[in-house]
Amino acid sequence: MAGGSGRPSDEATTGDPPMEQVRAGYCWDRPSQGRPVWEMAVQTKDSNNLKWYAFEFVVVCIGQYGDIPKIPEFPNNKGPEIFKGKILHTIDYCKLNKEAASQLLEGNKVVVVGYKKSAIDLAVDIAQANQGAEGKPCTMVRLGVSKLMESLLWKLPLKKYGLKPDHRFASCQIATVPENFFAEADKGNIVFKRASEWWFWEEGIEFDDNTKTKTDVVILGTGYNGMEKLKTILPEPFRSMIDYPYGIMALYRGIIHPLIPNMAFVGYVESVSNIRASELRSKWLARLMGEKFKLPSTEIMVEQTLRVMELMRRTTKFFKRPCAATFSINQADEMCEEMGCQL
Ligand SMILES: Cc1cc2nc3c(=O)[nH]c(=O)nc-3n(C[C@H](O)[C@H](O)[C@H](O)COP(=O)(O)OP(=O)(O)OC[C@H]3O[C@@H](n4cnc5c(N)ncnc54)[C@H](O)[C@@H]3O)c2cc1C
Repeated sequence: MAGGSGRPSDEATTGDPPMEQVRAGYCWDRPSQGRPVWEMAVQTKDSNNLKWYAFEFVVVCIGQYGDIPKIPEFPNNKGPEIFKGKILHTIDYCKLNKEAASQLLEGNKVVVVGYKKSAIDLAVDIAQANQGAEGKPCTMVRLGVSKLMESLLWKLPLKKYGLKPDHRFASCQIATVPENFFAEADKGNIVFKRASEWWFWEEGIEFDDNTKTKTDVVILGTGYNGMEKLKTILPEPFRSMIDYPYGIMALYRGIIHPLIPNMAFVGYVESVSNIRASELRSKWLARLMGEKFKLPSTEIMVEQTLRVMELMRRTTKFFKRPCAATFSINQADEMCEEMGCQL
């Protein structure tokens, strides 16, 4: 389960029925009062026993990437069921050992669907496993709505490969490419296909421009469903409000949901450096817990959070990935001011 900042209560029990998840009547302006607020069930692998613990405060840091893969949906008779080759998601690929990965890639025609970090790293793996006369090029399918922004935009041959993004820099649609990505593309070991839609046929995949490609393996680099993962651990009514109103989390300072008491979320704001964004937020949270400063009222947090979301919505069409890249200096200044320190 998610990490808690309190210690397990002395009354942790095994196999007890779930009790009330949240004790009512708690105010956000007093984060830690020494009494349990959340009860969490913990189940260890290979055990059917649930252990219940009570915490004053829970910090959720279960990550946005991993655990629940995003799998595209297909029309009838155009899905994985008709494809004769192998299909897997990057979540399955990363579980393969070296030998199994080589077996999957070497000498096979592989299509990678997606155009962000997992897909880019994977394309290089595939190209390197397919060197020499017997090697087959890897095809990267770039979906219409998924654009690549390189950190070194002006230095990279994006136009040459038809990869120049249409969107502005104001989003977290940034991926740092591995060193030899463009070298492999130059050698013809990675080829690119842009499509708005695609689906399976018996021997490969077909695109909305009526072209088809034959392939042995399709690897979906289509990302993860971090929001669904969060929903699996939150009880109602919080589960339903977590992605209101725009399908993203409305977090004050990227950490606190104004309507979810005694819980914080770390790791849910992306930036050019996620580690930096999370480190600053962890420090802010530690000071909040240490009562070095107080949260504003719920109303002010809601108002401020909605204002930031609205600004993001107007700034970038990729606002559904909470991103501090464009406003990171401003946000860091505000957080520092609140916790009374300078960066
Ligand atoms: C291919 C790829 C490349 C990336 N490259 C970069 C990069 O170069 N730079 C960068 O800043 N970021 C990068 N990221 C993003 C990176 O994942 C995050 O920056 C970082 O891992 C976030 O750390 P985290 O601790 O929040 O989450 P995670 O590292 O995802 O850790 C979450 C942990 O929680 C566990 N967990 C999940 N659910 C539960 C549960 N119910 N109970 C208990 N435990 C649970 C998970 O098993 C996992 O161990 C990349 C992501 C991907 C997928």
